[in-house]
Amino acid sequence: MNTLTDVKYTPLGNEIVALLDDQCKKWELCGTNYRNLASVKSKEFAIRDKIVKLQWNPARLTSTAAKVDARSISERKCFLCAENRPLEQAGVDYNQHFTVLVNPFPIFPKHYTIIHKRHIPQQIETHLIEMLNLSRALGKDFVVFYNGPQCGASAPDHHHFQAGNIGFLPIENEIVAMKHQAMATLSIDHTNSWFSNDGFRKVVIIEGDDASNIQSAFQRVLVSLQKLRAVNTEPLLNILSYYSPETRKNTILVLLREKHRPACYFKEGSGQIVLSPAAVDLGGVCITPRQEDFDKLTIDDLRKIFIEVFPSDEFLFQLQNEVSSML
Ligand SMILES: [Zn+2]
Repeated sequence: MNTLTDVKYTPLGNEIVALLDDQCKKWELCGTNYRNLASVKSKEFAIRDKIVKLQWNPARLTSTAAKVDARSISERKCFLCAENRPLEQAGVDYNQHFTVLVNPFPIFPKHYTIIHKRHIPQQIETHLIEMLNLSRALGKDFVVFYNGPQCGASAPDHHHFQAGNIGFLPIENEIVAMKHQAMATLSIDHTNSWFSNDGFRKVVIIEGDDASNIQSAFQRVLVSLQKLRAVNTEPLLNILSYYSPETRKNTILVLLREKHRPACYFKEGSGQIVLSPAAVDLGGVCITPRQEDFDKLTIDDLRKIFIEVFPSDEFLFQLQNEVSSML
């Protein structure tokens, strides 16, 4: 663990590392869950040349099995709104719109939820710039991630991002290879964009040194997805966001989705696997809150789940054609 005297973080990084330390001391649930995280079981598989880990994390059951249909959401109090949060939960203001909270049900050794101060719906179209700026403010030591309202966000009614420490998600070591495995590389709005298919994940990687250019390129991908899916709502997606101070570039990985939960999630009895893939899982750390799933999941199960929740090779090809046609 890094200590408070560690000087490598950005100013915001230092503030939120101190916040975690403080919350673990003053908030019993938080301290217990972070201590327990140190002893959670995990195991590792290699699918093709990529690493996928399993983490047996019982504290995540509420989130993994969250009911996110409109009725369930309307019948519960929003746990991200200030008036409903535990009294012990403290935050750090990032800017006038967002507050950083420690996630009390961690997956990462340092895990945060960055919530909008107002109760507004989860959506990325008008908030991507905020995400890119947040990545810059947190620097090289954190990944910022986003789960769409129908694709893993357990509070689809309250806009938020999450952040975790670098060095945890296997996909971080695979981005260079994923670029090489891209079926196409396009220059869009002064960014480089890779339409990558690594055999089981379909990802659009967008990289650039100007946030508004990345926003423009992402907007083209978003509009193309809506056209191909024939929807005017947000297409199913998750995003991982990184910033490199050395190159001064933001990189986002847009994880394209065919569906949120795989068929095995809805099975009954021994055929059920409670795995609800979102950004972290598809970044290479799959969370199984139940021990039975952790014990029985095989590499074939994982491969099938990934293939099922990502779109087809053909879809990625169509998307790349659609975006190209706009340039
Ligand atoms: Zn709320």
